[in-house]
Amino acid sequence: MSNVPFYKPHSNEIELFEHAYSNQLPLLIKGPTGCGKTRFVAHMAAKLNRPLYTVACHDDLTAADLVGRHLIGDGRTYWSDGPLSRAVREGGICYLDEVVEARKDTTVVLHPLSDDRRILPIERTGEILQAPPEFMLVVSYNPGYQNFLKGMKPSTRQRFVSLRFDFPESALEQEILIGETGADAMLAKRLVNLANALRALKEHDLEEAASTRLLVYAATLIGSGFDPVDACRAAMVETLTDDVETADALMEIVHASF
Ligand code: ADP
Repeated sequence: MSNVPFYKPHSNEIELFEHAYSNQLPLLIKGPTGCGKTRFVAHMAAKLNRPLYTVACHDDLTAADLVGRHLIGDGRTYWSDGPLSRAVREGGICYLDEVVEARKDTTVVLHPLSDDRRILPIERTGEILQAPPEFMLVVSYNPGYQNFLKGMKPSTRQRFVSLRFDFPESALEQEILIGETGADAMLAKRLVNLANALRALKEHDLEEAASTRLLVYAATLIGSGFDPVDACRAAMVETLTDDVETADALMEIVHASF
């Protein structure tokens, strides 16, 4: 199990993933950025011994980017599978990160794969791939306000079993920091308390809350000998805001913690 990425479960999500996998149900994971969604999927793919194909979705992503396209090489054209087709052929796990960023005409290719047909028609080649039982589709998105207008089409959304992630509660987040960076218990506690204080700041219009990922960065910088206050500025404060006044206000909280 040594090649299984480190992952500390929040609740019964490992069990849910295993049940979804063995019953061939697609999974939707929603939660703020940096709270462990990608790590969870990597952990599960390794645990289930399936190849993982991850696609970071964006608004220029086309169906061909997922399914594949004809390429020219050596004076001829040949077909090149996209990550989705490869995952289907190999019985792997295809993980579409930030799926709401993709255009709706791109995500419709997921429809026949994510209901009981479990097929991927490849229009360009005339093939219809039947997904083997080991294939699993996993998508994630951040339901933060910036995606409010985008959302997911109900007809897409209602094909998935859904799982909500949030930032871990304090004791768990400390264990994550210790396991991930080798930080000592005292430092982990301070950083998590700091993150919770920053997360509680409602009056500052921060687009994103301090994530577990940023805490991992701060602990990593401190662990390699960088000054703790400067590490928190670099890994957390300046990452969270461009506004100088807001940064000063956040730094006051950092100073109170270290
Ligand atoms: P997301 O996909 O939700 O944006 P990630 O999965 O990339 O976030 O998590 C960011 C980082 O936080 C990971 O690289 C890992 O260091 C750490 N992390 C977050 N949650 C966990 C967890 N439950 N177990 C282990 N590491 C975690």
